[in-house]
Amino acid sequence: MLFDDSELPEAIASVLVPVAVPVAYTYKVPPGETVVPGTIVKVPLGPREVIGAVWDDQPDAAINPKKLKSITRVYDKTPPLDEDLRRFVDWVASWTLGAPGMVLRMVLRSEEALEPEAPVPGVRRIDGAEPDRMTAARGRVLATMEDGFAWTKSGLSHAAGVSPSVIDGLINQDVLEVVMMPAALPLPKPQIDYSQKPLTSSQQAAAEGLIRGFSKQGGSVALIDGVTGSGKTEVYFEAIAEALRRDRQVLVLLPEIALTEQFLRRFEQRFGVYPAEWHSEVTPRKRARVWRGAASGDVRVVIGARSSLFLPFKELGLIIVDEEHDAAFKQDDRVPYSARDMAVVRGHISKFPVVLASATPSVESIVNAEQGRYDLYELPERASGASLPDLQAIDMRLDGPERGRWLAPALVNGIRETFGSGDQSLLFLNRRGYAPLTLCRTCGHRFQCAHCSAWLVEHRFQKKLVCHHCGHSEPVPQSCPSCHSSDSLVACGPGVERIAEEVSDLFPQARTLVLSSDIAGGPERLKREMKIVEEGGADIVIGTQLVAKGHNFPKMKLVGVIDADLGLAHGDPRAAEKTFQLLAQVTGRAGRVTGGGKGFLQTYNADHPVIKALLSSDKHAFYQAEIEARRSAGLPPFGRLAALIVSGPDKSFAEAYARALARSAPNDQAVTLLGPAEAALAMVRGRYRFRLLAMAPRQFDLQTYLRRWLGQGPKPTKGLRVQVDIDPQHF
Ligand code: ADP
Ligand code: ZN
Ligand code: ZN
Repeated sequence: MLFDDSELPEAIASVLVPVAVPVAYTYKVPPGETVVPGTIVKVPLGPREVIGAVWDDQPDAAINPKKLKSITRVYDKTPPLDEDLRRFVDWVASWTLGAPGMVLRMVLRSEEALEPEAPVPGVRRIDGAEPDRMTAARGRVLATMEDGFAWTKSGLSHAAGVSPSVIDGLINQDVLEVVMMPAALPLPKPQIDYSQKPLTSSQQAAAEGLIRGFSKQGGSVALIDGVTGSGKTEVYFEAIAEALRRDRQVLVLLPEIALTEQFLRRFEQRFGVYPAEWHSEVTPRKRARVWRGAASGDVRVVIGARSSLFLPFKELGLIIVDEEHDAAFKQDDRVPYSARDMAVVRGHISKFPVVLASATPSVESIVNAEQGRYDLYELPERASGASLPDLQAIDMRLDGPERGRWLAPALVNGIRETFGSGDQSLLFLNRRGYAPLTLCRTCGHRFQCAHCSAWLVEHRFQKKLVCHHCGHSEPVPQSCPSCHSSDSLVACGPGVERIAEEVSDLFPQARTLVLSSDIAGGPERLKREMKIVEEGGADIVIGTQLVAKGHNFPKMKLVGVIDADLGLAHGDPRAAEKTFQLLAQVTGRAGRVTGGGKGFLQTYNADHPVIKALLSSDKHAFYQAEIEARRSAGLPPFGRLAALIVSGPDKSFAEAYARALARSAPNDQAVTLLGPAEAALAMVRGRYRFRLLAMAPRQFDLQTYLRRWLGQGPKPTKGLRVQVDIDPQHF
């Protein structure tokens, strides 16, 4: 050794830690280790150790080295997060006013992924081998293994719901082989030209446009605006094929886990392999593999929920956002962000194409296309040539059902005919449970959630009253807790369970199925039931918005919307857009493949512009009117909005703080401040919520303004919290 380590100045580095602090912290680098920006490390933080990443900020050399803590571990088996991903994290933090560390936390979601996987014995399907005799249990094992991954025996028997002896039987028959995992696990690559459908001419034109997008310097954004069933998926499959040809990875974002199953199968039909899945229902072990595979480049295509946007792809070259208008892409999280908008940003930073697709695009995306920022591809007809459904309104004031019933005679007739000819009907009501309101007939008592300002909803199948905001539930009482009369409780209004009851009364011979996110059995059962519907194993389906999205039910001929006015009642300026999108999507389920579909809209407002737009199927007129209304009110996308939600356990304290915060706002002519007012949901999980709204012209730098405001305003204390929501969904 030429010189002693202690004579060298100690190496230090900035590390971004996954907590809500504004800057990276400085740590010592242990002797003998090297780190670069992006290296993933473990560091002490207060009493615990956390995983963070070396960041680009200059470390603070002024701190006395004796006071610095040292990095305790360098994850050198994992590639450093690349420059583009680091800029993306910084960008999201700066846009949402979130802490960069909290955004980084979304990247480092899988701690397991950082450790190389030790090989363990597992089993894998031998290519093409079939059992001598197929049983239900064997079928489940093989279906579980469809994605080509190897499994541990115990994991497989658990996931497939079979006893280990079934698996041993398949090993004995040389259908499964024992392998060491993961070393023996080369992932099959998608085959670009596995099986392509001949495209219609408008599909072809759109696909060619998307492919041209790859040659644009600096990236591109395309919007596919195509009616339900127009074959948008086949079109963007061609963009996926192009990305694969260019040796780039692909990410497909879907709003709903329930949609992935069908998508996976279609992908397999087109590319010969299954894509990797990334969402909350995937086991931690599989997620770790997907994370590692994205980073190493072994995983070429990921299909995921919005959080997959933060995977550390090695060479991402295309993002598809399907159902781009869907509100599920923007949820209230620790860091509220719009996955659609952030996908566009990620594409912009890394200069690759982003494709948005919808039958009912967001007003924002339509305006972006009109103003030339996005390339627009329209698919006005269904790919199969099937006609769009024939829609009619049922005026409930004139032609409604008798009291205590919810299906109008015209709708009942429609269902009867559809059932008679062996086709499926879908009854749509965006309300889970049996009845939205339970009331005492004697004293008028209503059941409110103890933690939220929301009424409890009766779930008759589960014999419970449930809060749909916080999940609180209680048994349905025998007598009124207020006046103690018994048998006085009445259910007001319908939920899907009540509609199902009426349907069973009217059509006792029909196979009915309720599809709602809260049915017992969770996502697995839901997936199975979606498949049952797809394969024609149900005659009448009663569903919440789960069934509105993307799904292709070939035998579905009739769609009945039980309450077309439900979404319009909101005071929210986006209510018209959201209702139009939801109802166009749900009625679009009818007759997708064969045509001849029918839709019924039960309404008390047959003259409402949204209902009229749906009936005339003139969506352009609707969008133009909506765009004009937004423009003249200075609402998004023509103006900018941010909400500050103040919440706390004590109502008057939270309100007083919200007022003080409002008074501290910097004066700026460009900004209009509204509030504080009680938030639409004034109490959630025991926290009272007040909302301030800042509106400004489109060009205004609202984030800088908000940073200045929060920097100089009173600091929240005593359990108060301020959350910034840029571009809130509800305003
Ligand atoms: P969208 O996503 O626009 O609602 P899909 O991509 O789901 O439409 O396509 C609707 C149906 O039409 C699917 O059953 C699909 O297989 C079929 N389809 C799409 N493109 C074609 C085509 N070019 N030729 C024949 N069938 C097609
Ligand atoms: Zn009572
Ligand atoms: Zn509640």
